[in-house]
Amino acid sequence: MNRKIFFTILIVVFAQLLSCNSYNPDSTEKEIKYVFYFIGDGMGLAQSHAAELYLASKNKSSELGFLNMNRLPHHSYFTTHASNRYITGSAASVTAMSSGIKTTISTLGLNANRSLPTIPITQKAKEKGMKIGIITDVSIDHATPAGFYAHQVNRNMYYQIGLDLINSDFDFFGGGGFIYPDGHNENADTNLIEYAIESGYNYVNSKQEFQNLNSSSGKILAVNEHLDVSSAMPYSIDKQDNDFSLKELLSKAIEILDNENGFFIMLEGGKIDWLCHMNDAASCIKDVIAFDDAIGVAMDFYEKHPDETVIIVAADHETGGLSIGSVLTEYQINYTLIDYQKASMEEMIKEYTQLENPGFNKALEYIQENLGLNGPATALKLTDYDLRRLKKAYKNQDIDQGILNNPELFEAYGGYHPFITTAIKIFNQKAGIGFTSWAHTGIPVPLRYAGLDPAAFTGLTDNTDLPKQIEKALGINE
Ligand SMILES: [Zn+2]
Repeated sequence: MNRKIFFTILIVVFAQLLSCNSYNPDSTEKEIKYVFYFIGDGMGLAQSHAAELYLASKNKSSELGFLNMNRLPHHSYFTTHASNRYITGSAASVTAMSSGIKTTISTLGLNANRSLPTIPITQKAKEKGMKIGIITDVSIDHATPAGFYAHQVNRNMYYQIGLDLINSDFDFFGGGGFIYPDGHNENADTNLIEYAIESGYNYVNSKQEFQNLNSSSGKILAVNEHLDVSSAMPYSIDKQDNDFSLKELLSKAIEILDNENGFFIMLEGGKIDWLCHMNDAASCIKDVIAFDDAIGVAMDFYEKHPDETVIIVAADHETGGLSIGSVLTEYQINYTLIDYQKASMEEMIKEYTQLENPGFNKALEYIQENLGLNGPATALKLTDYDLRRLKKAYKNQDIDQGILNNPELFEAYGGYHPFITTAIKIFNQKAGIGFTSWAHTGIPVPLRYAGLDPAAFTGLTDNTDLPKQIEKALGINE
C-alpha cells in the first residue's frame, strides 16, 4: 500500500476512535471521572420487564424500550451467590459488588470469616480525589448503602453502621434516616444526627431545605421528612408532594458533587426488594419506574460527558421469584389493571386493620375500592374460586400467631395479613403476574451499562466482577 494512503487511513481510524461518543464508548483511552452505580435491590429481569410491559400497555404500544435502563447499550447478566449460600442476601451481595470479595450471609464489608475488612470501591475513589454520594430510599444504614462505607460482622448492627457512615467522611448521603439514631442494645452516648452535625455534615430533613442546597453547602446528610417505622422513605405508590424522589436526590447530588476530580454515586432502589418479599407487584412496578427515572438523570449527564462517564445498572439478587404470566391466566397479561391498585400492600394492611370488625361484605368493599376487585372492570370480576379463597383468608385473618411455623399458612400468606395478601394475590393473577417465594431467589440478575469495555462482561460473570471493572475504568490498582 502507498505510504500516504496508509497514513491517511490510520489518521481517519484514529480520529474515529477519539470521537467515539455514543453509548458505545469502547475505547479504553479515555479517563473516567464520573461513575453512576445503580442497584435495584431485588430487581431481577422480570421486575424490570414487568415495568417495561406496564409502560408499553399504558402507551398501547407493541414496541418496547420505554425504560431508560433498557436503552443502555450493553446488557449482560451475572451470578449473585454468597460464599456460604447459593441464595444470597443483600449484605453479602453488596460486599461483593462494592469490593469484589465474596463473603458470608449477613456479613457487611468484611471477608468470609470476618477477620479482615474489604475495601469498597467508594473508598478507593475517594482516595483518588473523587467526591462520593450514597443515595437510597430505604434507611441510609441499610445493607446495600452500608456496603459502600461500613465494616460490621452483622448487617443488623445499625448504630455502629451509622457511626461508620459519619466516619467515612463521604460527601453526600440522601434518602432514608438512621434506624437507631440513639443506639439499640449498646451503650450509645452519642446521637447519630448530633454526631453527624458535629462532624461537619449539613443535616436537612425537609424538601424546602433540600431544594436550597447547592455546591457550597458542604457535606450533606439529607433525610426525607416522612419516614416509615424502618426509617425508610415511602413507597412510590404512597408518595406525597413533599417526599423526595430518587430522581430529585440524584439531580441534587450531581449539582453538589460535580467537580474537576469527578464523583462516584451509588443509588439504590431499595424498596423493590421489600415489595417483592410481600408479593406486591403493582407497587413494585411503580418503584422500578421511580428507580428508572433516576437512571434517566444519569443518562442525560452521560450525553454531556460521554467519554468520562460510566453508568452501571445492576441488582444484588432477585426477590419473590416474580414471573410475567401466571398460573390462571397462562398466555394473557393485562398490565393496564395495575393502576387499579391505589396504595401499597403495607398501607392497605395498616388502613384495613383500623376498620372496626369489618364484616365480609365490608372487607370486599375495601378491596373493591383499593384494588378494583369486583368493580366495573370485567377483568377484575371475582370468580367463585376467588371468593372461596377470600372467605378462607378472612376466617384466617385473626390468626397472627404461628403463621411462620405453619407451612400451610406460611405458603398462603407469608406471615403477612391473610385477607389483604390474598386479595393482592388474586389481583396479581388477574393482571398476569406470579410469585414463587416470599424471599430472595438464586437466579442470576441483569446488568446494563455504558462506558465500560463490553469485552469484560462476556461469558459467565459474577457480582465480584463489577467493582473490578469499574476500578479498571478509573485506573485504580494499576
Ligand atoms: Zn430482601
